[in-house]
Amino acid sequence: METHSAWYSGINKQVNKIKDLKGEKNLRKYKLNYLLCIAERVDSYSGFCSECQSFQKEITEIVADLSEFVQIPDDSARMPKEKHRVYFKTVNKITSHLQKQHNLVIEGQNLGLWISIGTAIGVAIGASSDSIGFGIPIGIAMGTAVGTYLDNKAKKEGRVICPREVSGFSKNTTIAIIILGLLILAGAILFLFLYRG
Ligand SMILES: [Zn+2]
Repeated sequence: METHSAWYSGINKQVNKIKDLKGEKNLRKYKLNYLLCIAERVDSYSGFCSECQSFQKEITEIVADLSEFVQIPDDSARMPKEKHRVYFKTVNKITSHLQKQHNLVIEGQNLGLWISIGTAIGVAIGASSDSIGFGIPIGIAMGTAVGTYLDNKAKKEGRVICPREVSGFSKNTTIAIIILGLLILAGAILFLFLYRG
């Protein structure tokens, strides 16, 4: 593991303090683990990427806002609306920069994309043959295979922004989608078997 800059160490310390003060609920709500992941990435690119360099300043600001909010002892206290909006806007902006400029992916990103592509291809196959309703599950199965392959490849190459991130597109969601795809496939096969055979 590479060593971190003083900037990252400071952010890490502050975010951990936020976790301690407001606990599990805010950990998920503000995706604090994910925030640390993007901070780590931005830190590693800041030496040669001017945008990442300016993101460091923005992360410092949103973490300061969050720190201020967690000082309020009342548990039902909410972050001011405008600051809440800026927080997520910043996280999303940095995420899309990491995806576009640094070729990183969100865990499960390829799976989601390829299931959509597979479904579209499946619809086309179904429409062009007499087996309407059979094309879609085949498309989903193909999309799942390609997407899973690409996600695993990205993981091996260390291009997943936050591999152990629990919120967002988690492993459970991935498994649920695969199971759903298989169920649809099984249903379609059963349908064809009953009505054709
Ligand atoms: Zn950058």
